[in-house]
Amino acid sequence: MKKIRDIKDKIIYNKTENYLKKKNEKDINKKLKLIEKVLKKKDIKERYSYLYDLLCNYLDNEFKEQNICNFNCGICKKRQYLKDNNIKKDTYINGCCYSYLDKKNCNHLNKDGTCNVKCLGCKLFTCNYLKKQGYKYKLKNIYLSKYFFNFWQRNFIEYTFRKPKEYVLKGILKRRTII
Ligand code: SF4
Ligand code: SF4
Repeated sequence: MKKIRDIKDKIIYNKTENYLKKKNEKDINKKLKLIEKVLKKKDIKERYSYLYDLLCNYLDNEFKEQNICNFNCGICKKRQYLKDNNIKKDTYINGCCYSYLDKKNCNHLNKDGTCNVKCLGCKLFTCNYLKKQGYKYKLKNIYLSKYFFNFWQRNFIEYTFRKPKEYVLKGILKRRTII
């Protein structure tokens, strides 16, 4: 069993390295060091948990550095657009943490506008308004996750919103096919 795991880990490492080179990404060595750290974790639950946190940090940085949602006084880019175009809504604040369908904030939203759970699906999500601007995040296009998750795991993560890390991790483990 251990032998198969080691072979599969080597494949993950090599494929990630090739992917990074093909994409001509910056800091390839630094990125591969991170992959090594993930692969060093042989306990599968620990591995997924670590990977999950890395992905959350990666996405938090992306959104912060590029100011993707561009929040200003609680109003994001998309909702500012709705406001500017006089599209009547019950509120414009809190971005997609406020649901127009449920007419309420997500239960995990703190009073200061931060989130009290780490939901990877929410972090990957971009609305149509952002998608039209070219912002789209898919696990199969991120070097950290490309070769670690199968189709069912990716699908589950990308379509699971407003759920805490523990819930998402359980779903990831349930859909695991590799040893
Ligand atoms: S994803 Fe779109 S709707 Fe959600 S917070 Fe960002 S800009 Fe606003
Ligand atoms: S779980 Fe998602 S929708 Fe809820 S507060 Fe956190 S980021 Fe917002």
